[in-house]
Amino acid sequence: MAYRVVWFKRDLRLHDHAPLAEAARLGPVLCLYLIEPGLWAQPDMAAQHYRFALEGLADLEAELRRLGGRLLVKVGEVVEVLAQLHRAAPFVALHAHEETGNGWTYSRDLAVGRWCREQGVAWREWPQFGVVRRLDDRDRWQREWEALMRLPQQPLPALQFADLPVAGDEWPAPQQLGLDPWDPPQRQQGGRQQGLAVLDDFLGRRCEFYRGNISSPLSAPSACSRLSPYLAQGSLGLREVVQATRAAIACAPAGSRQRQGLSAFLSRLYWHCHFIQKLESEPALEWRNLHRGYDGLREPDWDPARFEALVQGRTGWPLVDACVAMLRQTGWLNFRMRAMLVSVAAYPLWLHWREVGLWLAREFLDYEPGIHWSQLQMQSGTTGINTTRVYNPVKQARDQDPRGVFVRRWLPVMRRVPDSWIFEPWRMPAELQARCGVRVGIDIPEPVVDLESATREAKHRLYARRGRPEVRAAKAAIVDRHGSRKGMPGRVAEHGTRSNRRSAAEPDKSQLSLDF
Ligand SMILES: Cc1cc2nc3c(=O)[nH]c(=O)nc-3n(C[C@H](O)[C@H](O)[C@H](O)COP(=O)(O)OP(=O)(O)OC[C@H]3O[C@@H](n4cnc5c(N)ncnc54)[C@H](O)[C@@H]3O)c2cc1C
Repeated sequence: MAYRVVWFKRDLRLHDHAPLAEAARLGPVLCLYLIEPGLWAQPDMAAQHYRFALEGLADLEAELRRLGGRLLVKVGEVVEVLAQLHRAAPFVALHAHEETGNGWTYSRDLAVGRWCREQGVAWREWPQFGVVRRLDDRDRWQREWEALMRLPQQPLPALQFADLPVAGDEWPAPQQLGLDPWDPPQRQQGGRQQGLAVLDDFLGRRCEFYRGNISSPLSAPSACSRLSPYLAQGSLGLREVVQATRAAIACAPAGSRQRQGLSAFLSRLYWHCHFIQKLESEPALEWRNLHRGYDGLREPDWDPARFEALVQGRTGWPLVDACVAMLRQTGWLNFRMRAMLVSVAAYPLWLHWREVGLWLAREFLDYEPGIHWSQLQMQSGTTGINTTRVYNPVKQARDQDPRGVFVRRWLPVMRRVPDSWIFEPWRMPAELQARCGVRVGIDIPEPVVDLESATREAKHRLYARRGRPEVRAAKAAIVDRHGSRKGMPGRVAEHGTRSNRRSAAEPDKSQLSLDF
């Protein structure tokens, strides 16, 4: 029986699944998912990612069962499992989506390629997003993205299942894979059905609130689409989301809030791939500075106590600590608050982005390496090509949570702090602290550093490095390889703030651009 193995990874769906559609057209298929202990042992992986994947897997398995087939789930490293299957009944081809993952998946895919070549098995891969493998010219990327997004969605093919005498494995608990079992109690649930419900709700109703409400951590949880974990795990395909959004735009009245929201959202889908393309073209950006001229800038000054204060949500800046608390409980934060957390880590706390990024990767349910590491570097000022934005957490609190509702929701101790001290509670006079029962340094932490002087010092160091002739000289090559191009939708959104940018008459002074 000449059959093909379809290897499901972060593409847990049957809809618009080109590797499956092509395999099914050619003959019997074996649908395979691997729980790879090596992957789950990586420092950017967390139990919430694993559980979310299992929820998607349960949906996929049920769908395949309804079609009279099965999903073979094996626990093991891919080359060993493929060899085992091949011994049981040789297969002619391995079909999969291309994955732009972390360094571990990159090396694992190289090993799969070698194994396939040695065994004479054809390995066929299809793009998963609008990300172009072996892209030699960034100028043509936008056209390629558009062409991929315009392709018709692959309908669910008629499936003929290969029947192999190989038993599936039990799905291990996170602890058995060495994962810390913490699972945010309020995180989103996985699976295609959940993903489709979120998509329908956003396109049909919530998109109206997208513009103007995605920066505040109060309104963002319902104003944002909340599709990120479904895209990251592939329960929804990017093309289906892009095409559904375009269809919704076509139906929305011209000039309506819905249409504006949907257009702003559509540009984010574009940026999704723009950022992943950076990691695809330069896998090392996961662990080293995109601009090597910034090497050594922060590394010698790593301060574990500052890092620990950040991770524990005890920096002393209420908005920062409230964001950390929300993230721990929900696995999600909006863009502006993510950017602020990284900015606080990178400037006043002067922490290198790598450890901060690993921590956040584990905390974000939607961890997508290409977006994540590019953003970490961008917000830390090490790409050399982006305007650096330094978010002042006190200014952000005044703008995005002016009445302290968010801070009090996530930091119950702050409920006892009077309104006028909610942004800088450490400045409360001693007798007021006693009266409201909130002692600085005991009930709430004192700020870990003096915000103003630490930020000033950080800017000074970054600017000195940026001014070096060799650092300036290396910039052009990075722009050529990774930079956004004129005419790209939502171009200024490289900084993630397009729809919320203020007019020139109303500058946001919390973003202290260093491009002067
Ligand atoms: C430091 C940092 C780390 C980040 N890490 C991740 C990550 O690991 N995974 C992830 O999906 N997003 C990441 N983002 C981008 C962004 O914050 C999230 O995509 C967004 O908050 C997810 O919520 P949503 O789906 O409701 O977003 P929406 O605003 O509804 O956006 C829709 C989709 O567009 C994409 N998108 C939105 N904003 C961006 C952006 N600025 N850059 C690239 N793509 C974008 C995402 O796929 C998102 O699901 C990060 C941002 C920062 C500043």
